[in-house]
Amino acid sequence: MKIGIIGAGQLGRMLALAGYPLGLEFVFLDKTADAPGGQVGDIIVGEFDDPDKLAELADCVDIVTFDVENVSASVVATITGRTRFLPPLAALEVAQDRLSEKRLFAELRIPTPDYRAIDTPEDLASAADELGFPCVLKIRRLGYDGRGQVILRTPDDLGAAWETFRGVPLILEVFVHFDREVSIVAVRSIAGETAFYPLVENVHENGILVRTMAPLQDVSLTGLARDHAKRLFDRFEYAGVLTIEFFVRNGELLANEMAPRVHNSGHWTIEGAVTSQFENHVRAILGYPLGDASAVGHCAMVNFIGTMPSLTPVLQIAGAHYHDYGKTPRPKRKLGHCTLHRSTPEKRDAALAALIEAIGQENVSKVTETG
Ligand code: AMP
Repeated sequence: MKIGIIGAGQLGRMLALAGYPLGLEFVFLDKTADAPGGQVGDIIVGEFDDPDKLAELADCVDIVTFDVENVSASVVATITGRTRFLPPLAALEVAQDRLSEKRLFAELRIPTPDYRAIDTPEDLASAADELGFPCVLKIRRLGYDGRGQVILRTPDDLGAAWETFRGVPLILEVFVHFDREVSIVAVRSIAGETAFYPLVENVHENGILVRTMAPLQDVSLTGLARDHAKRLFDRFEYAGVLTIEFFVRNGELLANEMAPRVHNSGHWTIEGAVTSQFENHVRAILGYPLGDASAVGHCAMVNFIGTMPSLTPVLQIAGAHYHDYGKTPRPKRKLGHCTLHRSTPEKRDAALAALIEAIGQENVSKVTETG
């Protein structure tokens, strides 16, 4: 079986690394020949929205999946008659637009932060007036890792914020004074079997995930998150991994966004769960039985952003799993990560503190809004 992956980033590379032991083969489509996936498979070099390149990919594999969301749904639609494509295109289309995503959440009774669609400066002024400050202005499409969003603190920020994004469809959200951020990675196979990874806690800095702690032991939030994932599964007759990110406020989950793919907040599953999110994604889309998604201990996953730490200090920490994606360093770029797991949360926290000291990362703290 050969799987085609649109995008040869680190997620694609980790999918392939998980699939090789199962005897699977992989080929990628990516804009550059030196993308991380190229270290472990062939890359067809081309734009994601080039129908000829997508057709070339589709024609040499048994099924196509993706590691990026910013692919044109209308172009992908041109290959769905030639080969299987999973997760479903309809889920990808909804996730590409923050407004459609929030409308779907509302339809499925999945609570979200209050928001307004913004198309004009007048919309922005009246929405900010209704929602209050601080609030967050986001582009509806193509935003990632905190790019394409700005926090508005006072009415004086409105003009500059409008000018920053002028011309593209926007959404304004209330700023959530959350207690914590969490996510659930869930998987459904084409046979309808489901598995749910434990809920995890995520810490972001400037919109970028810096750390995941797994599992977050909260029975009630876990139940809610699973229910929400199930509703999305049913809605799309989903197959593959699906991730939902939430804010937790006063014991409630507010959905921030969904990703119809494997996710950075699930990297810990490579060493910290019985079966990784990557292996379960390929099992799910090919119709094999799913693997056990439970955690084997208490994990911390730390992202390496902008620079890679040296190997030696990290490997000195017992059980440290160092992942280097082989990317050229650039500010704010995710270059690698490290996962640790221990038998208790206390031991995990101590190991995490040692890791943070070893890599010289500042002791990142939750970004909270005080304004
Ligand atoms: P997003 O691109 O929507 O996933 O946002 C990235 C990160 O920015 C989130 O994980 C939060 O840490 C922060 N953020 C985004 N939207 C909001 C919001 N409405 N209220 C508070 N923080 C937010």
